[in-house]
Amino acid sequence: MGYESVRGMRDVLPEEARNWTLLENQVRAVARVFNYREIRVPLMEHAELFSRGIGEATDVVNKEMYTFPDKKGRLLTLRPEATASVVRAYIEHGLYTKEPFQKLYYIGPMFRYEKPQKGRSRQFHQYGVEAVGALDPALDVEVISVAWALMNRLGLERLSLRLNSIGCAADHARYREVLRDHFGPHLSQMCPDCRRRYEENPLRILDCKRKTCQPFIESAPGSAEYLCADCAAHFAAVRRYLDRLGLSYDIDPRLVRGLDYYTRTVFELVSADLGAQDALLGGGRYDDLVEQLGGPSTPAVGFAGGMDRLVLVLDELGRFDAANPGIDLFLATLGQDEALALELAAGLRENGVSVDLDYRGRGLRKQLAEANRLGAHHLLVLGEEEAASGRGRLKNMATGEETEVALETDAMLPLLQRRD
Ligand code: AMP
Repeated sequence: MGYESVRGMRDVLPEEARNWTLLENQVRAVARVFNYREIRVPLMEHAELFSRGIGEATDVVNKEMYTFPDKKGRLLTLRPEATASVVRAYIEHGLYTKEPFQKLYYIGPMFRYEKPQKGRSRQFHQYGVEAVGALDPALDVEVISVAWALMNRLGLERLSLRLNSIGCAADHARYREVLRDHFGPHLSQMCPDCRRRYEENPLRILDCKRKTCQPFIESAPGSAEYLCADCAAHFAAVRRYLDRLGLSYDIDPRLVRGLDYYTRTVFELVSADLGAQDALLGGGRYDDLVEQLGGPSTPAVGFAGGMDRLVLVLDELGRFDAANPGIDLFLATLGQDEALALELAAGLRENGVSVDLDYRGRGLRKQLAEANRLGAHHLLVLGEEEAASGRGRLKNMATGEETEVALETDAMLPLLQRRD
């Protein structure tokens, strides 16, 4: 009997994994310059964390969660996103007592029961930042800048920011009524999900992708018209700071994002390079979530970006092409005795030189082909003569030049270490 991976959960084979590592390195590099520290939270949480945190009326909770009872019947969920987990950790470890203001980032797999398609899977991957503990609109703009800086670093162009403000809890309550008034007369023409959303949380109707519902959504009043004075001032400050940094944006009056915890600023970054209208990343403020999950009242802002589609697009754009570093040295062995090769490899590897051997007792021609396949920068052939004399000829694969060298780590290192 053969086995296959679970539908929607892919293997990332070495060729592609290399691209993932490069992307992750870029995320870490940007996090470092903005001074965000990494947090690693578990892949599983108690189901209530997400149903309360993200909201019962959302598609993520309603349709997409992997929830299972454990052996004691407790409902556990594979995390569909990381914000709720980060907030749980912030509260559980009392991070706010030591330093209430925390700038955190994460990278890792998330799980949603969705229809798998290119760049969309059931185990997918996100990176994200969460800045917890400050209400300053400058922080919203910093978080947006992190996203923007990363995309610039990745060479993604034609970026545009969709921006909106959905206000505080009191504004939501007001806006929900405005939406009920708007959608009420059309409900019979809208999808069953939207009829449910109308009762539970009409903001969620604005996320609906069904064609039949679009005309009613497009004519719905925008949330920013219903902001209280504080939220309106916050939104104005965010826009002013974005202008100052030269980060262009389009106000999308009906952008609400698919999760219930958002307040005030919400945004998505899209790139024409990505095609369609799949957002590169999305986020916003969630000023009530820490308190809702049992912590002290603590404002926060963050975003999450999908990595699966991003890796594909960066690859298509050739962004990973120049990055295959190859190995520093291939040791071709002639004959049975590999003692010298093992010893040389050990000494060089200790000094950070990447070395590989054939290990399959193949002839020289095949070993040379292997050295080429591995992108070896240098080649050294070790036979009986080399073992006896303790000297060999190190070949630079790019220039073809050969240098005679003593077969000792110290003598070989200067010839093998890279200048970069
Ligand atoms: P969300 O958490 O839904 O706001 O999405 C944030 C980012 O994650 C976006 O860039 C999405 O494209 C990406 N994303 C969400 N769900 C999936 C999925 N099932 N597969 C791949 N990427 C996803």
